[in-house]
Amino acid sequence: MKKGLIIKTTGSWHTVKEENGEIYDCKIRGKFRIKGIKTTNPIAVGDYVEFDIISNEKTGVITNIIGRKNYLIRKSVNLSKQGHIIAANIDTVFLIVTLKDPETTTLFIDRFLISAEAYRIPVIIVFNKIDIYDEHLLSQMKELINIYSDIGYKCYKISATQNINIDNLKDAMKGKVNVISGHSGVGKSTIINSLDKNLNLKIAKISDYHKKGKHTTAYSELFEFEFGGYVVDTPGIKAFGIIDMYKEEIFHFFPEIFKISKNCKYYNCTHTHEPECAVKKSVEDGIISSSRYINYLKILDEDWDEKYRKPF
Ligand code: GDP
Ligand code: ZN
Repeated sequence: MKKGLIIKTTGSWHTVKEENGEIYDCKIRGKFRIKGIKTTNPIAVGDYVEFDIISNEKTGVITNIIGRKNYLIRKSVNLSKQGHIIAANIDTVFLIVTLKDPETTTLFIDRFLISAEAYRIPVIIVFNKIDIYDEHLLSQMKELINIYSDIGYKCYKISATQNINIDNLKDAMKGKVNVISGHSGVGKSTIINSLDKNLNLKIAKISDYHKKGKHTTAYSELFEFEFGGYVVDTPGIKAFGIIDMYKEEIFHFFPEIFKISKNCKYYNCTHTHEPECAVKKSVEDGIISSSRYINYLKILDEDWDEKYRKPF
């Protein structure tokens, strides 16, 4: 019996990397069921598995998945009642934001953060394109960094094209399984390129190929940086929606709101209209950021049937 990391899935075949670097192509034996979730794929990149090799060849059968610490999931394209696991055991999601060209709103950031909290995936917020910010945007960025780092989210300020602070990013990604997310145009491919030139070419080639094919949904891969560590690349990774979450529990995923909500008078306080609400008081006192609180109210007000509660 051997142990390894799934670095690529293409449908029924999984590429497994043993700790010593040996690569095997493996199939799954029998049916795996993962408790609590219905998914179209039982195994994803980032999974650690046990496998047996077949007759000295570089192929094998996967016999067991070792427990996951977290996973990224999205709605399956084919079967709407099921999810498709994009990647497992993610160390960090880097949310790339820009205040200009394009503008990333705090509502987008906060929606993203609550999904990540719900799935227990640590997020680092990366402000890119700092080279084109004027005084006004720089002070806006400073304010946002204050808000988010106070809550506990690490923030970086970089410029991928001017190569500013790219080494800090490299240090944070070294030896880890990383996901790079954010709106289209914020600089994700430019960032990967500045981290590792060869990798970007490889990713670009593969995504071109898969855009033409129809196997996009089954395909994902962990690309290895030359400095060590991986980045997940797969269609649909750019942003993940909020799924399978009840409206009443949404404040649990605003860490600073959740913490203070213990002091609300009513145990079922929604922090909207109730008297003696510790959350509202903290917003008034400037302890909780009003931008975060306003986004909380906006998210509560959104069409939940449409957007959030996608049961599977
Ligand atoms: P993606 O869609 O997130 O992968 O974004 P791209 O990497 O394709 O970048 C979109 C555009 O932003 C390109 O024209 C890049 O050259 C530009 N860009 C990326 N990073 C920076 C940066 O740090 N500063 C400036 N000024 N432009 C950048
Ligand atoms: Zn309250």
